[in-house]
Amino acid sequence: MPYRAPVRDIRFILDHVVGFAQVSATPRFAEATPEMSEAILTEAGRIATDILAPLNRAGDKHPARLENGAVVSSPGFVEGYRAIAAGGWVGIAASPKLGGMGLPISLALGVDDMMSGACLALHLKPVLSRGQIEALEHHASDAIKALYLPRLTSGEWSGTMNLTEPQAGSDVGALRSRAEPNGDGTYAVTGQKIYITWGDSDLVPNVCHLVLARLPDGAEGTKGISLFMVPKFIPDAAGNLGARNSLRVVSLEHKLGIHGSPTCVMQYDGATGWLVGEPHKGMAAMFTMMNNARLSVAAQGVGVAEAALQHALAYATDRRQGVTPLATDGAIIDHPDVRRMLAIMRAEVFAARSVALSCAVAIDMATATGSPEWQARAALLTPIAKAHGTDIGCEVAHLGVQIHGGMGFIEETGAAQFCRDARITPIYEGTNGIQAMDLVGRKMSDGGEAAFRLIDDVQGDAEAAHFTLPDLAADVWQAAEALREATEALLAHALNDRFAGSVPYLRGFARILGGHAHLRAAIADPAREPLARVMIRRVMPEHLALFLQAREGAAGLYDLSHEDFAA
Ligand SMILES: Cc1cc2nc3c(=O)[nH]c(=O)nc-3n(C[C@H](O)[C@H](O)[C@H](O)COP(=O)(O)OP(=O)(O)OC[C@H]3O[C@@H](n4cnc5c(N)ncnc54)[C@H](O)[C@@H]3O)c2cc1C
Repeated sequence: MPYRAPVRDIRFILDHVVGFAQVSATPRFAEATPEMSEAILTEAGRIATDILAPLNRAGDKHPARLENGAVVSSPGFVEGYRAIAAGGWVGIAASPKLGGMGLPISLALGVDDMMSGACLALHLKPVLSRGQIEALEHHASDAIKALYLPRLTSGEWSGTMNLTEPQAGSDVGALRSRAEPNGDGTYAVTGQKIYITWGDSDLVPNVCHLVLARLPDGAEGTKGISLFMVPKFIPDAAGNLGARNSLRVVSLEHKLGIHGSPTCVMQYDGATGWLVGEPHKGMAAMFTMMNNARLSVAAQGVGVAEAALQHALAYATDRRQGVTPLATDGAIIDHPDVRRMLAIMRAEVFAARSVALSCAVAIDMATATGSPEWQARAALLTPIAKAHGTDIGCEVAHLGVQIHGGMGFIEETGAAQFCRDARITPIYEGTNGIQAMDLVGRKMSDGGEAAFRLIDDVQGDAEAAHFTLPDLAADVWQAAEALREATEALLAHALNDRFAGSVPYLRGFARILGGHAHLRAAIADPAREPLARVMIRRVMPEHLALFLQAREGAAGLYDLSHEDFAA
């Protein structure tokens, strides 16, 4: 079934669940009026539905390939990318001074959700450019900004991020790439990077790599890492492309999914680079890019889940098997277990989308007001949104296959592609395990203050809902109380014990935020109550078992020896 962008759902969540009105009430985002937001989401939805979604299968069946050292992209991707760039979508959040739209991240995230759902492999390209734009806006010299930002914002050139090396994945500090000063203000960058998304392409004339490398006097670990701009072709000050830089694509990875996105092994052999930000402060600059990208990956999980759900719904409406409670030759949608799966899928997508958008609103409010409380909320919600949104992407896509029965296992239906494509999202931009450790480690270094403030808000809303939806409101209030207790217990743990419980804790946290989002939705629109009931009564109770697991700490895990894992 063709994908249809969920403009209405995103709009509803912005207006009634996550409080986007606060964002448009700030002077910084005053232009993001309801009319403007509607127009932006509608137009992005049109591109996603009409232009990008039809490319998704071609990207899967005809992967990007390497010919004579250059990437040749999947059929239709050149035209698809042109539509994205021409619409100004690469620069959606970039400064208007550079040709960007200057819109809030909340709207950019809605666009990410729809474009990822339509064609994740292609959408990754503008997403990476957007992260690079943000990193340069914050950290680059005026000369680099003037040369690169307008061209990245317009989509004329594109950006990549180069962190990973064979021995340096989650442990970025272990990287070995190095940069030697050339004596003229530039640097010679040498090293191998792996898994570089869209490390080359035929969609743009110049690919601009942000590369992490160590200067000769750089200390070991993350503290000694610097960031460099290393373009494929070296431009002059006017942006005319000159000599080819000493970098190349060694090979493309053969992958489980996102076949249309070329994942490159990159070799830099004394390539000319320009320092971005201060020496040895590369991680801070790269974090700007990664934070933006982490939330965008949350939207990727949600977007693919939406597409998988739409696909499964169409199949379940059409496929007839046996006798259902509603008809003797009924569509499988009327079998109770298929209903259960579809209801859970829709409830999960709504909840994960709401968590991601509430994080985006917090980021926008932090940007617009500079308030430390909004900053803390954005920081707290980022790992939850990323890990949960991407886990849900995989789980919903798996349910989609299950609804298809045997046809789900047959590639031609397209249901399996969603599983394969979604599977990378819990891995890149920091694995979900690393996100959970971030949540219970760095994000709780305030003694849990930001978490407790959020729990207070959830309970406040539940109390306000008491007279309208008493049973659902009581369940959400009680679940939030369980979250408060689990948080207190976690904070009393030593760090390694916290880490051992961090993944179930994060998931339990997200379950309650999901229940809260559904409660708000049902209060705003009574027609949404049945779905809220599915979330709050069937899905949210999972938090009880999750918090028990989170409290267990690490000891029991280390009681098992390496030999105990063997059969
Ligand atoms: C398709 C694809 C595209 C990618 N795109 C890019 C890109 O554009 N740019 C880029 O730089 N990189 C990119 N990556 C790399 C990606 O970000 C890494 O794969 C990811 O960060 C994990 O690193 P790793 O693969 O080395 O796994 P490892 O770090 O080896 O992790 C293996 C397992 O150990 C766990 N683990 C590791 N350390 C810890 C710890 N301290 N505590 C607890 N658990 C731990 C992890 O959670 C994971 O489960 C991409 C990867 C893929 C597959």
